[in-house]
Amino acid sequence: MRFDIISVLPELLESPLNHSIMKRAKDKGLLDVYLHNLREYGLGRHRQVDDYQFGGGAGMVMKPEPLAACIEALQAERTYDAIIYTSPDGVRLDQALCNHLSMHQNLLVICGHYKGVDERIREKYVTLEISIGDYVLSGGELAAAVLVDAVGRLIPGVLNDETSALFDSFQDNLLAPPVYTRPAEWKGMAVPEVLLSGNDKRIDEWRHEQSLERTKARRPDLFEKFVNE
Ligand code: SAH
Repeated sequence: MRFDIISVLPELLESPLNHSIMKRAKDKGLLDVYLHNLREYGLGRHRQVDDYQFGGGAGMVMKPEPLAACIEALQAERTYDAIIYTSPDGVRLDQALCNHLSMHQNLLVICGHYKGVDERIREKYVTLEISIGDYVLSGGELAAAVLVDAVGRLIPGVLNDETSALFDSFQDNLLAPPVYTRPAEWKGMAVPEVLLSGNDKRIDEWRHEQSLERTKARRPDLFEKFVNE
């Protein structure tokens, strides 16, 4: 799977994409992430990428020409399954959308800055607009990092234990059960006995019950979906 990410601050993405599971995915050849500095497509001597907004008001807007030039240069090389714009007014990223995106080959992600990108870029090129939550970031880079991480770890072979993503929170609309490690007793607090029993069937049942209780208590909205699906 390949991500191309267009940004005015690609440095912001370097560290999150070059450690831990993302690094392992890249080293295994399962995930390629290419960062494209929009500034290289900027206009004039100053490589301008933003401008004042029509109609007045504070905050700059990302100009269409550099973005269009960068997007078209990438499109000339390959076909994208989706051209994604990170935006607070996009569809909310959730596990179902991550699962869906993990089945694609080529994704192009545009990171906004300032007041965002000129609306015509969204109309002409963007096929999917994604928000990572109801809050405003100063740029799309952290949203892109979240997207690459959440989608990348779902590619078969990226996680060591291939089945483990299946038991994460939100798969099946349930939150994950609590987890424990050694020591079995710590500061007078004992690990639930069933987990030490070696009885896989009882353990599975306990985990499932815990998932149900936790989801019901903390995320009644998800629980509702679980019951109805
Ligand atoms: N004026 C815009 C916010 C611009 S924030 C508005 O009110 O909707 C600057 C950039 O950060 C955006 O273009 C987008 O790419 C990114 N961004 C901010 N919040 C985000 C979020 N919740 N999810 C995804 N991207 C976000």
